[in-house]
Amino acid sequence: MESLKSKGPGQATGNSSFRCSGPKAAWDNDEIMNRPVPERPLVGAHMSIAGGTPEAILLARKVRATALQIFVKNNNRWVGKVLPDEEVEIFRRIWKRSRLLRSLVAHNSYLINMASPNDTLWQKSIEAMVEELERCRRLGVEALIAHPGAHVGSGEAAGLRRIARALDRIHEEAGDSVGIALETTAGQGTNLGYRFEQLRDIFGQCRYRSHLAVCLDTCHVFAAGYDIRGPENYITTMEEFDRTVGCDRLAAIHMNDSKRRLNSRIDRHTHIGEGEIGLTGFQGFMNDERLEDVPKILETPKGKGLRDDRRNMRKLMGLRTVES
Ligand SMILES: [Zn+2]
Ligand SMILES: [Zn+2]
Repeated sequence: MESLKSKGPGQATGNSSFRCSGPKAAWDNDEIMNRPVPERPLVGAHMSIAGGTPEAILLARKVRATALQIFVKNNNRWVGKVLPDEEVEIFRRIWKRSRLLRSLVAHNSYLINMASPNDTLWQKSIEAMVEELERCRRLGVEALIAHPGAHVGSGEAAGLRRIARALDRIHEEAGDSVGIALETTAGQGTNLGYRFEQLRDIFGQCRYRSHLAVCLDTCHVFAAGYDIRGPENYITTMEEFDRTVGCDRLAAIHMNDSKRRLNSRIDRHTHIGEGEIGLTGFQGFMNDERLEDVPKILETPKGKGLRDDRRNMRKLMGLRTVES
């Protein structure tokens, strides 16, 4: 698990001759960049790479995030645009200079289904994962977060086996330089990963386990029937998670409120404190010492600009009672 805890692409390729475009960018100003950075908890958001991967870092900085999640390619296409070396170098350079950011994770494409009973789609999913992991490795991403998969009628046990076999194949091709974090799901349709036991069973069937981790999504676990509202429910749910999967396997937490009720099995995210979970459901995550090193990432709706991200970040930080 050590590799998952390394803090972003810090030890990137050394002396690059790249200079960021634009007049006297902040990350080229030593006076600004060398100011001491206060230790803040690892909280951030998913940011768009529509303007290129480096753009996501700039967006994260604007909301004073310490953690960032990106897609490493267009998430609705099987084949992504080539990621040029030049872009990778700029990305790593800006990351290194924006010292507030300490944790970088990625989310895989929505088309990938490691549980698919269809051999063509399953194979395609494996290849796509290998390709995304390579992009992650180049960018310095700590872990690629992946939905386990949907069995589409083949049954849960068959689906879980299929996922484990896919993960082994992926490992054989891609190695373990980037972790894979299976995300807890709401259990919508035939999606697997809505019970902690299912994640445990997948790990149990994998030959290579050391690089496998978990991403817990607050909206998904709630929709799947795990209550996290208030301290007692939080403790009960996290005890169950720790017993079944292990808190030390957590590579990230997705911080999303839920539009739908407990056990609805429907995945609809909403702003922190404005859904069925409510603010008390996030207090535990923000103050649990076991989770200090785990990046907490918003995937809440975004209106124009960064207003919504700023507001949700503020609400999360406002829940901190432990000193940071
Ligand atoms: Zn999520
Ligand atoms: Zn979701």
